[in-house]
Amino acid sequence: MADANPRDPSLAAAAMRAAFDVQHAASRNGGIPSAAARRDRLDRLKQLVLVNADAFADAISADFGTRSRTETKLLEIIPTLSAIKHARKAVSRWMKPERRRVEATFQPAKAWVRHEPLGVIGIISPWNYPLQLALSPLVDALAAGNRAMLKPSELTPAFSALLESTIAAQFAADEVTVVTGGTETGKAFSSLPFDHLLFTGSTAVGREVYKAAAANLVPVTLELGGKSPAMLFDDYSIEKAARSIAFGKFVNAGQTCIAPDYVLVPRAKAQALAEAILAQTRHSYPQVAGNADYSGVISERHRLRLTGAIEAARDAGATILAHEDEGTSAAGKIGPTIVLGAPAEGLLLGEEIFGPILPIIPYDSEDEAIAFMLARERPLALYAFSDRSSDHWRLLDRVISGGVTLNGTLMHIAQESLPFGGVGASGIGAYHGEEGFKRFSHARAIHKIGAVNVFERMGPPWGKTAAFVARMLTR
Ligand code: NAD
Repeated sequence: MADANPRDPSLAAAAMRAAFDVQHAASRNGGIPSAAARRDRLDRLKQLVLVNADAFADAISADFGTRSRTETKLLEIIPTLSAIKHARKAVSRWMKPERRRVEATFQPAKAWVRHEPLGVIGIISPWNYPLQLALSPLVDALAAGNRAMLKPSELTPAFSALLESTIAAQFAADEVTVVTGGTETGKAFSSLPFDHLLFTGSTAVGREVYKAAAANLVPVTLELGGKSPAMLFDDYSIEKAARSIAFGKFVNAGQTCIAPDYVLVPRAKAQALAEAILAQTRHSYPQVAGNADYSGVISERHRLRLTGAIEAARDAGATILAHEDEGTSAAGKIGPTIVLGAPAEGLLLGEEIFGPILPIIPYDSEDEAIAFMLARERPLALYAFSDRSSDHWRLLDRVISGGVTLNGTLMHIAQESLPFGGVGASGIGAYHGEEGFKRFSHARAIHKIGAVNVFERMGPPWGKTAAFVARMLTR
């Protein structure tokens, strides 16, 4: 459902509200969908993704100027299909009521928790992995038996239009719908009285969404960003670390929420690590400008923000190691860039970078490195490179993050068995797999009284038996 009339926001908001009302009525009147009905919805989603995989990759590449089609397949299409497969297989088990213990005082009786659909789920998604970040929450919402409305980003118009038409072709309007538009649409969308709202995007917009949802007492999951650190311990191979860090940082040209934002490295190894990362980028991306495997920056505004940060660091005396070639900026790209000596003030150490620029920060002691991380908001991801598990556990004990990959980058997000989410400023709540199913379910408490209700039989009027029981239970 596109903006009914983009020049008339009230009309667009009314159309959105009407679409919501259709889903809301269906969720209240339709009862709880069976496991088979949920699997059918997941199957239709799988079909949609499979049949349109190439068209999605083309649309996303058009939106980015260049986006590696292989990256779209590996990092968006396949994770979405894998989430569908996992949910499809597990959904009957997840739906089974869980038997819980009943205290002796309340016997004979039985107790269960049953996970039931919440109703209508709102999903607002960003531009950086537009398919995966719209459809992966949808998988969990459908597995949990809900209906859903999606609001993808206005910065990926080709993708969003394709998502809208393909969803409309596969799903009834009372099952899943897509609303397209920008900030104003987002504001109206987050003001709808959903049964749950999942937002993926920046921390600043997340605050606005949280406020809008609070007005309707809508519970939220906020999947936000932040500065995710990587820390190298002194025993670990520089080459291995460089390969993992370059991989995690430069896929999608650094526009990845869990990309390593900066690297902490023992001072004596800082220069060697910077050079090894640069060498790795030259190997992974022999050219930049004309290379279909190296992504562009999403918009000119975003590109200028990043090139401005590089220039500011250079002006402040930082050393810049850049892998660029002729035509890089004309192609809407920024080559992999490593910065040594980034100024303490400024974008590179002050904000989430969200682009292909990597500050390397030398440390003299582990305490100093940890203090650097603790001085910042709790990050979405944390990466630690060491051959000693004791280093890993010491770091995990002191620095909290949404998720962690040890001796690698990014891979924790791909594990269906692990929850994905932030903590503190990097987010509220987690989803993926069973945690996603539970996120979009109401855990309903059910208690069934047995042949006699002993508690009730004691009174009132409360007599000697009740007084005796009270005495016994307070001993
Ligand atoms: P953004 O916050 O600018 O936009 C996200 C979505 O919110 C878009 O669909 C946008 O149209 C909508 N929106 C904008 N203003 C709104 C408002 N006032 N009310 C409601 N909706 C509004 O984020 P972005 O630039 O698209 O994405 C980049 C950010 O997302 C980065 O900070 C990144 O770390 C974060 N991110 C987080 C995850 C995660 O899983 N935690 C994943 C990807 C990106």
